[in-house]
Amino acid sequence: MTTTAADCLFCRIVAREVPAEVVHETDTTLAFRDITPHAPVHVLVVPKAHQPTVVDTARTDPRVLADVLVAAGEVARSEGLEQGYRLVVNTGPDAGQTVFHTHVHVLGGRAMTSPMA
Ligand code: 5GP
Ligand code: ZN
Repeated sequence: MTTTAADCLFCRIVAREVPAEVVHETDTTLAFRDITPHAPVHVLVVPKAHQPTVVDTARTDPRVLADVLVAAGEVARSEGLEQGYRLVVNTGPDAGQTVFHTHVHVLGGRAMTSPMA
């Protein structure tokens, strides 16, 4: 389950070794469009530093976790999500986490009627 930085897809996107449609960048974060969007706007915000899960990032450097959330807000604003958006963090395999580099999904552009779907 745990991926090391050496073979991590999102580390490779951060390093620009794998192409992605980048929409926002700071010193500590990168945001790019999800390759399989589940909403009209579906952007992933990642810390540049590799940690497997959001909890690991929070433990290691809580300021970076705050940077990720601030970046998510900037993405939502630039994508025109004034009516709201959903931040999703899948944590662990049973939750559907498939890439073990911390990431927050920014989902918006459609009504999300259920709190969980
Ligand atoms: P998770 O399931 O771990 O919460 O989210 C991982 C996300 O990464 C998925 O929504 C998946 O579509 C996305 N993804 C997987 N491979 C790539 C890729 O190569 N490029 C981009 N932009 N997104 C990817
Ligand atoms: Zn990584």
